[in-house]
Amino acid sequence: MTGDFLKLATTGVYGLQPYQPGKPLSELAREYGIYDAVKLASNENPLGPSPLAIAAIHNNLHDIARYPDGNGFELKQALATKYGIAQNMITLGNGSNDILELIARAYVTPAHTVIFSEHAFAVYPLVTQAIGASARVTPAKNWGYDLTAIQAAICEHTRLIFIANPNNPTGTWVNNAELQAFLKAVPENVLVVLDEAYCEYVDHPGYPNGLEWQAQYPNVIVTRTFSKAYGLAGLRVGYAISHPDIANILNRVRQPFNVNSLALVAATAAMADSAYLQEVKAANQKGMQQLTSAFTAMKLAFIPSVANFVTVAVGDGAKVYELLLRQGMITRPVGNYGLPHHLRITVGLPEENERLIRALHQQLPLLG
Ligand SMILES: *Cc1c(COP(=O)(O)O)cnc(C)c1O
Repeated sequence: MTGDFLKLATTGVYGLQPYQPGKPLSELAREYGIYDAVKLASNENPLGPSPLAIAAIHNNLHDIARYPDGNGFELKQALATKYGIAQNMITLGNGSNDILELIARAYVTPAHTVIFSEHAFAVYPLVTQAIGASARVTPAKNWGYDLTAIQAAICEHTRLIFIANPNNPTGTWVNNAELQAFLKAVPENVLVVLDEAYCEYVDHPGYPNGLEWQAQYPNVIVTRTFSKAYGLAGLRVGYAISHPDIANILNRVRQPFNVNSLALVAATAAMADSAYLQEVKAANQKGMQQLTSAFTAMKLAFIPSVANFVTVAVGDGAKVYELLLRQGMITRPVGNYGLPHHLRITVGLPEENERLIRALHQQLPLLG
C-alpha cells in the first residue's frame, strides 16, 4: 500500500498548475521532426547577449569549480553605480522569478491576500497559491491594468500587490500619473512590486522609472532582469531594488549561492555595453513595426505593446498555435492568461518575423 504522496503536499502546492513555458525548439524536433523551427514564444532576445558577456563567460570558465561570490559584490557594485543607489538596496536572484518568490515567501502568509490584475504575468498566481494565500484578481481595462480597481481591492489582509510594467502577455503599461495616484493611495504596509522585466525596451515620455517612485514610496520593490533585453535568459539572473530593510529580509530567505558565477560575470559585462543595448532596442522597434504592419494588413487586431512581444487576436488561439507549430513556428498560446482568442508573439529577427507573417497569412481564412 503506497501513501498518497499527492495529498501529503501542502494545500497550496497541491492545487498548483505548473508554469507552462514556451515550447523548446528541441521538443518540437523530438515530437514533430521539425528541425528548422523558429521560436517566438518566450520573449527572448533574438540577437543574443552582448559579445562582452560571452567573452566574460569564456574568461571565467576556468573558475567554475569554485562557489560563486554569494554576495555578488561586483554585479551589485555595477548596479549601484549605474542607478546611484546603495548596494544594500539590491537583492540578486536566479532570474527575477526567484525574487518574486522570495518576496512572497518572506512577507506573505495564508492569512494574507495578494492582488494582481486579470491577464497579468502567470508567476503571480503561482507564488501566491504556493504559499496558500488568497489572490484577488482585478478586472483589466483595455487589456491593461486598472489601478483604480486594484486600489479598491485593497483590504486589511492585503500584504502584496504585483504590477508588471509593461505587462506580459499584453505589452500594456501604466503611466506616471496613474502610478503616482495609485502609490499615494496604497498603505505603507502593503508592498508593491513593480516588475520591470521589459523596461529597457520602453521609450515613452510618460513611462515611469520605478526607482524614482521608490524614493517617495519605500514600500515599492522594483524587479528587473537580464533575461529579456540583455539576452541572458539561459543563465538566470535578475534583481530587486528595495528599501534596505526589505533587501535584508530577502537576503535571509534566498539560497546562499542563488546566482551562479557565469551569470554574475556575464550580467556585469552586459551592463557595461550600452551601445549593444541600443542596437537591441532599435532592432526590436523595427521588428515590432514589421509584425504590426502585417497584422494591420491582414486585419488582425493586436494589443499595442511597448515590449518585445505582441499579442494578436487570431480566433481560436489554441488551434492556430497548433497549425503554426506544424509549420515550424513556435508562438505562445495565452488561454491560461484569459486570452483564448490571442497568441503572444515575440519580436524575432527580420527573417523570422517574415516567416511568421507568411505562416499566419496561409492560415488567414481560418483566423477570426
Ligand atoms: C520574463 C518575465 C520575468 C522574469 O524572468 P526571469 O527570467 O526570471 O528574470 C518577470 N516578469 C515578467 C513580467 C516577465 O515577463
